[in-house]
Amino acid sequence: SIVPDYLTDALADVEPNMQGELAGYIPELAAADPGRLGAVFATVDGEVHGAGDVDVTFTIQSISKPFVYALALSDRGFAPVLAKVGVEPSGEAFNEISVERGTGRPRNPMINAGAITVHSVAGAEGLTPTERVDRVIRGLSAFAGRDLTVDETVCASEMESAHRNLAIAHMLRSYGILTEDPRAVVDGYIRQCSVLVTTRDLAVMAATLANRGVNPRTGQQVVDAAVVRQVLSVMATCGMYDAAGDWATQVGIPAKSGVAGGLIGALPGQVGIATFSPRLDAHGNSVRGVSLFERFASDMGLHVMEVP
Ligand code: GLN
Repeated sequence: SIVPDYLTDALADVEPNMQGELAGYIPELAAADPGRLGAVFATVDGEVHGAGDVDVTFTIQSISKPFVYALALSDRGFAPVLAKVGVEPSGEAFNEISVERGTGRPRNPMINAGAITVHSVAGAEGLTPTERVDRVIRGLSAFAGRDLTVDETVCASEMESAHRNLAIAHMLRSYGILTEDPRAVVDGYIRQCSVLVTTRDLAVMAATLANRGVNPRTGQQVVDAAVVRQVLSVMATCGMYDAAGDWATQVGIPAKSGVAGGLIGALPGQVGIATFSPRLDAHGNSVRGVSLFERFASDMGLHVMEVP
């Protein structure tokens, strides 16, 4: 395959770009190696090609959000989840204390307010917080096609400085969007964000979305096609937070970023793409990740609005 050569060239092009900063608000993430760089393509036929740091682990962070949204929709059905979390782009930062006026419903599942709420409705009704986290980690593992684990150090580090997410959760509790102890929900959500993945894992997870919910490596139907359509639509409109419009025009595929430096994109029916580079722009999106995706989009005509 020519893909690894292409990816090696693309990485060499963005390599010198030192712009951006590590996520500073989670002390343990600020200690990451900023030089890491990797990219992987996983096709819906199960081919996986990468270059650079494809097997280095890092925490999934917000890239967990679309997958746990998929699990919640799948476990509970659409209506109960939509009653608690909307699907409108907020145009605001990921950690904005942003809810609909009146109802207190988070605007979408990609911002923290929405993702914390989604975590609370993942799994069957009536699970304990620990059972729910287990369900979430097993679900994320099914998307990746291998057993994933939690980085306890990053998890503890984020929990210790989680004042903002705790504030969001308490506000959601006051509106009755959360119905249990806000601290337990944030704890579970932060464990979800602390799941360790590689760039290769993320590409396979994205490819599972591109492949109607069937993991192209294991053949497992993780969630059904209707759930995937919902998730990809929300990624397309809200996945890049307040940079969603730039992304939609420049790259044009459903995507999701995480503050550890991961970035995924899914082109339905074709490929899942993942990149890893920890320095972030002002929106909390990977600087070199965004530039790699811009390059992939123009080189390969990935944009969903372009006629092939
Ligand atoms: N765990 C992080 C948080 O809640 C995830 C944020 C992100 O990756 N954008 O702040």
